[in-house]
Amino acid sequence: MRKESREFLEKYLNTASPTGFEYPGQQIWLDYIKPSIDDYISDTYGTVVGIVNPKADYKVVIEAHADEISWFVSYITDDGYIYLKRNGGSDHQIAPSKRVNIHTPKGVVKAVFGWPAIHIRNPQKEETPTMKNIFLDCGCGSKKEVEKLGVHVGCVATFEDEVIMLNNRYFAGRALDNKIGGFVIAEVARALKQSKKKLPFGLYIVNSVQEEIGLRGAEMISRRIKPDLAIVTDVTHDTNAPMYDKKSQGDTKTGAGPVLTYGPAVHNNVLKMLIETANRKKIKFQRDTVARSTGTDTDAFAYSGMGVASALISVPLKYMHTTVEMVHKDDIDSAIKLMYEFLLQVKAGTDFRYIK
Ligand SMILES: [Zn+2]
Repeated sequence: MRKESREFLEKYLNTASPTGFEYPGQQIWLDYIKPSIDDYISDTYGTVVGIVNPKADYKVVIEAHADEISWFVSYITDDGYIYLKRNGGSDHQIAPSKRVNIHTPKGVVKAVFGWPAIHIRNPQKEETPTMKNIFLDCGCGSKKEVEKLGVHVGCVATFEDEVIMLNNRYFAGRALDNKIGGFVIAEVARALKQSKKKLPFGLYIVNSVQEEIGLRGAEMISRRIKPDLAIVTDVTHDTNAPMYDKKSQGDTKTGAGPVLTYGPAVHNNVLKMLIETANRKKIKFQRDTVARSTGTDTDAFAYSGMGVASALISVPLKYMHTTVEMVHKDDIDSAIKLMYEFLLQVKAGTDFRYIK
């Protein structure tokens, strides 16, 4: 990975972008892709779209989601403890003993998820962390003191963990779901610009907000762009890590290439083209299936307007929605290559319908 690319990825990952409050990350992402695009859109709720060939009629989207899971401050007790609601699928099981940043009008306030000592717990019936019993402590003795720091109901909190590298092979940290997708599409745009290849269509590089609470940003922007084709990125589980079940969850692994998903929202003719590209360019990939929807922004694009031919490229990831999500650097490179080579195959006006 290029030094500048890695610096961008680390800065982007370390910048808090909670669902509904994505703009700090979005600004970093837009600044990075600006040299690779002709124009951009930023919509009302913060989705950012880089555009190459904005005048072209045929429109192709490559997409990622920009938001990260977080917590909302929902109740402050009289003695200064803070109870939370989820903003996205935040994991109560990993919370105790973690440090967080509460984002307030007065800046970041540090806090910790406290937890009763092992000494006083009954080993026969230990309580597990739930939304009812986890709480934040920001070092205050009263609600008044908490409020004086700037914390109020409605502030968002994110885990403070920043990205690290393990064995010079894995990025580990929070929000790799799905800022790694934002990185992939940014690097595809950069590679296209560098190659000086002229695309015969309009390319829309979309970094959507609010995926973690129901694909909302993609829903909004798909209606605005009205694309002819959409290739969506997200992350998917490494089911070879401990405690997963391959029989029910499929067999996908970090380091073994991007995952291509079969499911009704994924258009078979687009998927076929992706697989042919991967085979021709000798890019390793894996297969997975979904029952019903993909649960990713693919669904939002596929079912927008009168239906948009869509497919999903997933980067396999360990420990989703924890602060130690892990992504293999080879999978990042392969996802970039697959998307780049695929785009070079797309002809303007391609009609993906099954029956003509
Ligand atoms: Zn997620």
